[in-house]
Amino acid sequence: MAEEWVQQVQNEVNTLEKLEKYINVTDDERKAINTLKTKWGTTPYFASLMDKDDPNCPIRKQVIPSMKEKVNEFGMDDYLVWKENRATEEVRPDSIARQYKDRIAFTVIEVCGIYCRHCFRREIVTEDDLQLRFDVEEGLAWIREHSEIRDVLITGGDPLLLSDDKLEYLISSLREIPHIEMIRIGSRLPIVLPQRITNGLMKAIGGFHKVPVWINTQCNNAKELTEETEKAIFKLMGGGINVGNQAVLLKGVNDNVPAFRELHQKLLRTRIRPYYVFYCEPAPGIDHFRTPVEKGAELIRDALRGHTTGLAQPMYVLATNIGKIPLMPDYYIMDKNDKEYTLRNHLGQTTKIPNMPE
Ligand code: SF4
Repeated sequence: MAEEWVQQVQNEVNTLEKLEKYINVTDDERKAINTLKTKWGTTPYFASLMDKDDPNCPIRKQVIPSMKEKVNEFGMDDYLVWKENRATEEVRPDSIARQYKDRIAFTVIEVCGIYCRHCFRREIVTEDDLQLRFDVEEGLAWIREHSEIRDVLITGGDPLLLSDDKLEYLISSLREIPHIEMIRIGSRLPIVLPQRITNGLMKAIGGFHKVPVWINTQCNNAKELTEETEKAIFKLMGGGINVGNQAVLLKGVNDNVPAFRELHQKLLRTRIRPYYVFYCEPAPGIDHFRTPVEKGAELIRDALRGHTTGLAQPMYVLATNIGKIPLMPDYYIMDKNDKEYTLRNHLGQTTKIPNMPE
């Protein structure tokens, strides 16, 4: 019999009939599923976390298509070509996206454990608008030839949907390249399919090596964190793999103070380090998820800084074609003169410290 995680993938909740076993589907949801030409779905495990009766459930919003995806007032056409610098003069395989000198994103698979409705890679992942060829051997050959690359982010789709054997081959091939110092894997599976963190997977990617593996997952609301997640993260850590979170700021999912704080506190309780919160990128068809840019910095100021444990503080960034741009709250320095700085804390109290000349 297939492993539990494989059964979860085989039984993906991706039709109206299957969805109706979990929730009372609204007219809008039904219309979107029947009308929009888009890939959607998730695992039975993640579907079981949806609220049966509340269409505003943060998990429902991420899983089920909405007619709002037809609206595209602010999204950029050909977003991925712009974002991933695919129109530059450097010749690279389709699998290699590059914004920095010493690190690249290596796409190895196009399928996911959830087809997030807010995905900025939707042109590849859910809509099939951009036809690219993700050839692992071609990508490995390119990395071998580029000695300036020290850090590889394996992405997709969801790389952890590859079999243990394929992952072992991929990771060991990268570890054999002398200039590779670290490997990162971007995967939502610790959240949407924690059953994937098996002994076999740990054998394939974990253990003590000179080239460590880091996993960054994506959890956007505290409701997504369960006892299953806790066990999976503990197992990953036991195999020497650190897990960070890259949340996306999403309207109606986490864009208010209580939800934002609860998410970051619960991540820490689950042993996941809050790493980034991304501004919801201007990809097409996701206007309804996007907030004003300042919102993330305001939430860090009002929900996290000084209000909870320092470890729970992610960096808020806007991912662009020229790299990530941090957008942090800037209320701390109220005044500065030759003698002193006037500083403000999260409660609005002020204090002074001397201005040290260079
Ligand atoms: S899991 Fe990642 S790549 Fe897949 S749809 Fe979600 S955000 Fe996009």
